[in-house]
Amino acid sequence: MSEPNTPRPHGREPAAPVDFIRQIINDDNRAGKHGGRVHTRFPPEPNGYLHIGHAKSICLNFGIAAEYGGRCNLRFDDTNPIKEEQEYIDSIKTDVRWLGFDWEDREFYASDYFEQLYEWARQLISDGKAFVCDLTGEQVREYRGTLTEPGKESPHRNRPAEENLDLFARMRAGEFADGSRTLRAKIDMAHPNLNMRDPVMYRILHAGHHRTGARWCIYPTYDWTHGQSDSMERITHSICTLEFENHRPLYDWYLRALGVYAPRQIEFARLNLTYTVMSKRKLLRLVQERRVSGWDDPRMPTLGGLRRRGFTPEAIRNFCARIGVAKTESTIDVQLLEHCVREHLNRVAPRAMAVLRPLKVVITNYPDDQVEQLEAINNPEDPAAGTREVPFSKVLYIERDDFMEAPPKKFFRLAPGREVRLRYAYFIRCDEAVKDPATGEVTELRCTYDPATRGGDAPDGRKVKATLHWVSARHAVAAEVRLYDHLFTQPDPETVPEGQDFTTTLNPASLEVLQGCRVEPGLAESGPAYRCQFERLGYFCVDPDSQPGRLVFNRTVTLKDTWAKIQKAER
Ligand code: ATP
Ligand code: MG
Repeated sequence: MSEPNTPRPHGREPAAPVDFIRQIINDDNRAGKHGGRVHTRFPPEPNGYLHIGHAKSICLNFGIAAEYGGRCNLRFDDTNPIKEEQEYIDSIKTDVRWLGFDWEDREFYASDYFEQLYEWARQLISDGKAFVCDLTGEQVREYRGTLTEPGKESPHRNRPAEENLDLFARMRAGEFADGSRTLRAKIDMAHPNLNMRDPVMYRILHAGHHRTGARWCIYPTYDWTHGQSDSMERITHSICTLEFENHRPLYDWYLRALGVYAPRQIEFARLNLTYTVMSKRKLLRLVQERRVSGWDDPRMPTLGGLRRRGFTPEAIRNFCARIGVAKTESTIDVQLLEHCVREHLNRVAPRAMAVLRPLKVVITNYPDDQVEQLEAINNPEDPAAGTREVPFSKVLYIERDDFMEAPPKKFFRLAPGREVRLRYAYFIRCDEAVKDPATGEVTELRCTYDPATRGGDAPDGRKVKATLHWVSARHAVAAEVRLYDHLFTQPDPETVPEGQDFTTTLNPASLEVLQGCRVEPGLAESGPAYRCQFERLGYFCVDPDSQPGRLVFNRTVTLKDTWAKIQKAER
């Protein structure tokens, strides 16, 4: 695996073409803004598993730090005790590491800052910039006004600082019921930006927190936490998605009011992918409603799902580099992601032969007990991968759809009387198709081979129009193979008629499980996450459900590269 995090000397500019974020950093560095220091962070909320959209943010934040010889922190924004869990923290750490990034000793938690945030809140109260408000949540919303109408001031807005400090201390001490009071910043109820209309800083919530336990019964809001966390960690460039653009004035207001260091916030457009939902809330529903087998179901856009499906971290990093960053929302074709994994696996995945829907072939002129070991190339893209031996014998399996009894014009594979090549083996000719008398189904092909064609070429120069993959029946190993299609039937699963739910666009055929597949014997011992190409069928990996004696493969992608085709047509 390549080393994405090799630091460069301080302040050096990366050679790659620069996007608008790197342009800002270059400008800051030239102006000597942070003494050439670059410090970013990736700030997940531990309320779900990371997905491919998060990968974009991870690659951006950790990638920038690496390119500029800077640092990137992993910070859990854990301000919501109701929805957060240790399970999510663990999975997030696993996924960031798997993607190839390292936060070293910089693993931070917003909850570690709760005490400092509380002190800072007291400072704002003392300065007359925050107040305890007794309005209910409902009333706060009513008073806020709308985009076209100014809000109304809370009747508690002008409480003396002493009284506010006392009430705030009693909020912390647990004297009041959930939702009965809040601490709010005193900014401007007529501000055109609704985030500036006396936003809530603290809410009362008698709930245990996965890290602070029962220590707190008031919790800071995300908006009151995020900017100060960045400030404490001395983040230079706080990179976030576009929906936070109109929160930036609030973050800046807090930092100015406190008189502390202020990082620069830069917003970019989040990743959207066709045939994919990315909202954590919706992904959670798919898991809870058992529409998928779990967060790591290979059809999920989560990093755990993609990993189980056989995606490599290199492919995902390459995808993120190729899509780049922009300031306007767009939707990326999921075929680009599939193209990236295909491109990487083409270079690194060893080839193997496997038959998914076996049809028995008997070579009538082949000696009954003979077995030959034939040489097969492991990876034509990588000569260093060498060769292996594949056993050949009298009874073989080929793919059921590689034979047709009455072939249409463009079908060049096996048919009665026709000759084809078996990959790395011999030419065979089909003499007879044996059928089940009851159903008429073809159960066996009786063929003859030409011993002079060993290795796959005829000395007399005669040609065949097809080369088929095969396995030796005696030697092949049984396997279960799971084939996947998009989880949703339409490119934008979230565009549904009024009153309908996005789950109505789930693809009922997104998973096909094939039993009784046969793979070449060399794969018998392959362990979980082993990746290879089954010739002519796609890229596959061993699923963690595999056990000794029970092989399970997932198809990562087919070989058909629709993206490359589109690109070629466009050129
Ligand atoms: P929530 O609605 O729970 O806040 P979120 O998707 O914003 O969901 P976070 O855990 O807050 O999840 O995200 C961590 C970081 O990843 C944030 O900086 C966020 O901007 C970024 N991020 C999340 N989704 C995407 C996406 N689709 N594309 C790019 N970045 C994303
Ligand atoms: Mg978020």
